[in-house]
Amino acid sequence: MSSQLSQGILPISQSTLLKHQKRVRFIASNCDNRGGVGCEGSSQSIVQGGEGVRGGECTDEKIDVDDSVGKEDLEFQRGVFGSRGNGFLADFPITGSGEAYGDCGDYFTVGCLNGEAHNGSNLDGVDMTSNGYFEHHRKTCHRALCPICWESWANREKDKASRRLSRFVLKGRDLKPIHLTVSVPRRLYGATLSELRKQAYLSLKSVHCLGGMVIYHSKRKDKVGWYFSPHFHIIGYGWIVDVRKNYFASGFIVKNIGIRKTVEGTIWYQLSHCGISSHHHTVTWFGALSYNKLKVPKELRKKRFCPICKEPLFRMMYVGRGDPPAGDLPSFFDSCDNWIQTRRDFCYDD
Ligand SMILES: [Zn+2]
Ligand SMILES: [Zn+2]
Repeated sequence: MSSQLSQGILPISQSTLLKHQKRVRFIASNCDNRGGVGCEGSSQSIVQGGEGVRGGECTDEKIDVDDSVGKEDLEFQRGVFGSRGNGFLADFPITGSGEAYGDCGDYFTVGCLNGEAHNGSNLDGVDMTSNGYFEHHRKTCHRALCPICWESWANREKDKASRRLSRFVLKGRDLKPIHLTVSVPRRLYGATLSELRKQAYLSLKSVHCLGGMVIYHSKRKDKVGWYFSPHFHIIGYGWIVDVRKNYFASGFIVKNIGIRKTVEGTIWYQLSHCGISSHHHTVTWFGALSYNKLKVPKELRKKRFCPICKEPLFRMMYVGRGDPPAGDLPSFFDSCDNWIQTRRDFCYDD
């Protein structure tokens, strides 16, 4: 039997599919196409608007406060200040808008060559006698700016963040996270991100947000495209008060927009178009969830194991005749003779 005939696709269940294969790829430059999570008009805030637009909090902000407030502050929009191609210090590029490395997204293969241990066993109805088990994975650089790999970065960050959020308990009570935005007043558009963040934390404190994660967005989007409009997204805890008072005192607009669908979905969506700079962390934590207040044990990376003999999987190279099995097979079996192990380090889940 030729080597090609001894190969086959395993009817693997959904759960064995790789993470990235289950996910829908969104268009990197379009906020509205980034998924189903978005935010609508708020309650408990001085801000109205959004009107159910997907990604509403990243389109134009509509502000409706009484006439005693200076008109200039309320304009808040790029019309007056200009923005594209400006020299604003915190005008960072957004997720996925950078350059990929040459091998980002290429396939590599991991597998198990314990053919003998597989004798007589079957996987999803396929007899695995003297066959090896293999999986294709994609190379990822895990960089937020990479147009190919940003999703793997966002997934990691989302997992870490939702774990941290779920560890917070207040006096034995399991609270539900809230989602806030904090918009920067125009007078501070020239400031550094560190300064903006410091000011945003003060606003969060004065509206009684207890703590949470903070994601910086450098841009909002309108019909023309993305433009500089710095704001923060917070997923955290608290019972928000004094939003109006805080606005008059600081110019920062805090908007309580609620969690759409799931906390994880909300975090992922916010990461999908945030402002990325190599000099700043994309996600920071403040208040009761900051690193010195809340200790969360680091999660160990999970090794990948052979579903048949339960031994760890290793990197493999194809040495059989003809072409190796197509890259879009998530997992498959093949004669052990067609493969050699190339590395001794373990393969991890992500
Ligand atoms: Zn990459
Ligand atoms: Zn095995």
